[in-house]
Amino acid sequence: MIERIKELAGGRIVVASGDITEFDGDAIVNAANSSLLGGGGVDGANHRAAGPELLAACKELRATRLSGGLAPGEAVLTPGFRLRARAVIHTVGPVWRGGEADEEATLARAYQSSLALAAREGFHSLAFPAISTGVYGYPPSRAAPVAYRTVLTFLAGSALPETVWLVFFRAQDAGVFLEALGSVLNPPPHGRALRSHTP
Ligand code: ADP
Repeated sequence: MIERIKELAGGRIVVASGDITEFDGDAIVNAANSSLLGGGGVDGANHRAAGPELLAACKELRATRLSGGLAPGEAVLTPGFRLRARAVIHTVGPVWRGGEADEEATLARAYQSSLALAAREGFHSLAFPAISTGVYGYPPSRAAPVAYRTVLTFLAGSALPETVWLVFFRAQDAGVFLEALGSVLNPPPHGRALRSHTP
């Protein structure tokens, strides 16, 4: 079950916890690797739930327009097959290398490319996992503001997707996300912030 934890951005962003393979909407995003041929974590779960047709579709992409694989920051669409979601948007996040290798820009592009693809497809609802925060090692509290700001900025300029779900595997992960967003969501009053920065 996917549990709704908090709504942000007037309800257009829903922070939730649970298994993203159960998402009942237009599309889920898969945190894939460049090979597109399956992996562990959420990628493995998505392939198990979608059935072998998903791997076959990914192999077909590799045999045709993505012979070199999917570069970090890019996104590609397949059907959802046995998933409840109609489609899967595969994207590749950055591997965390200490923060000096453009990880932030690549993570933002992974969210952006996925959102742009969803909008082009006319999708109303889209669910993201916490891209790169598993095996790829991106610190969750540093990924949080990047994910949130990128989604928020995209939604401000696009009517679609109407609703973006940020689905964390465990409720605790959603808690880390919301805590990391603390200062973004609740900036200190202007006057006080100014005074505290005045020598
Ligand atoms: P990456 O290689 O991009 O780091 P991972 O799959 O290792 O991808 O992890 C990304 C995030 O997905 C992690 O926070 C992990 O806890 C979460 N995750 C793993 N399985 C699921 C699932 N079934 N539903 C939602 N999130 C999941």
